[in-house]
Amino acid sequence: MQLTGEWISHPETQALCAALSSAGFQALFVGGCVRNALLGLPVSDIDICTDARPQTVSDIAEKAGFKAIPTGIEHGTVTIIAGHIPHEVTTFRQDLKTDGRRAVVAFSADIVQDAARRDLTMNALYARADGTVIDPLGGMADLLARRVRFVGDPSQRIAEDFLRILRFFRFHAHFADPELGLDGEALAACAANLDGLANLSKERVGQEMKKLLSAKNPAPAVAAMAHTGVLNALLPGASARFLAPLVHLEDDRPPDWRRRLVVLGGGHWDERLKLSRAETRDLTALHDGISALQSEAALGFRLGAELGQSAVLARAALFESPLLPAWEREVHRGAAARFPVRAADLPDLSGPDLGARLRQLQDVWLQTGLTATKADLLGR
Ligand code: ATP
Ligand code: MG
Repeated sequence: MQLTGEWISHPETQALCAALSSAGFQALFVGGCVRNALLGLPVSDIDICTDARPQTVSDIAEKAGFKAIPTGIEHGTVTIIAGHIPHEVTTFRQDLKTDGRRAVVAFSADIVQDAARRDLTMNALYARADGTVIDPLGGMADLLARRVRFVGDPSQRIAEDFLRILRFFRFHAHFADPELGLDGEALAACAANLDGLANLSKERVGQEMKKLLSAKNPAPAVAAMAHTGVLNALLPGASARFLAPLVHLEDDRPPDWRRRLVVLGGGHWDERLKLSRAETRDLTALHDGISALQSEAALGFRLGAELGQSAVLARAALFESPLLPAWEREVHRGAAARFPVRAADLPDLSGPDLGARLRQLQDVWLQTGLTATKADLLGR
């Protein structure tokens, strides 16, 4: 099996591999880049593994004219910038000791040991610089069948690193054959290790949940998370019930994790997932937009076109109500509309009174379907 793709034939990427191999070391692509290339999907980041030690990797790369950044030396990772592209180069490793998240690692010269510490068989695929695929654990058959399977015993692999519970569901959401269902043994292992989820940082849980909810159809994976108790351990009060209807209503629109998260419910998202201020603001606006009974145009006006559309879709899923035929046009009309009254139109008012009157007039305007003119509103 031979990989191809613009990313692998990039001259600087090839030059980095050649520099390592002409110094007598292996240079193998691994993980997401190999997996995605085999599935014909875009490759976003390049991971390379090697039997060279981190300092040697740095020396070789710098001698070849590339910049080396020691991003995770204790875990054996050096980032090499070649042709403006970051390449994460990691020395083959084996885990000596694990504590449920971080491992004490030893460097290794053995690709089979390196493969055995990876999470899923589809993530334990390697490729040489010329694109030849190396498959030490039979991950290729799983990938082609779109089967998401742990490397080794699921309970043991989860106990080593509880983040793998989330990764299992995330990779299922993105890559699994929906007809296959989820691996029973892995699900049982997830259900038996819920306590470990409490030790994960908000940041990692947030990253994983956002990625998971950005899959084209995360509903089957999230339903399985609910059955195993993982969903409630992460987001107390959340329910998977309305997610499949939402995905159906979305009808191939670009996925938006915020819209999906709001439909899962539970609230208090910023206490569970590390979110930016803008993300929290968007989630609150979506949540409030859904709760208040507002027209499609009013949601477009208040939230803008993108979030307004998300609010309409989420509301239809949650209330099991049909979408109006012109709903999207209405959201856009609202997003483009301008409220016709300005502060200067109310010269007799100031301070809080002015604010209250403007808000009241705006509500009236929204109730007229955003059609009332300034004269209508001011009663002239
Ligand atoms: P993507 O970058 O598209 O999210 P990826 O597979 O490249 O997917 P990364 O998080 O970049 O995922 O990790 C790179 C590789 O490192 C994975 O493919 C996997 O082999 C290994 N890996 C990552 N996290 C873990 C983990 N928690 N346990 C075991 N192996 C892991
Ligand atoms: Mg990656």
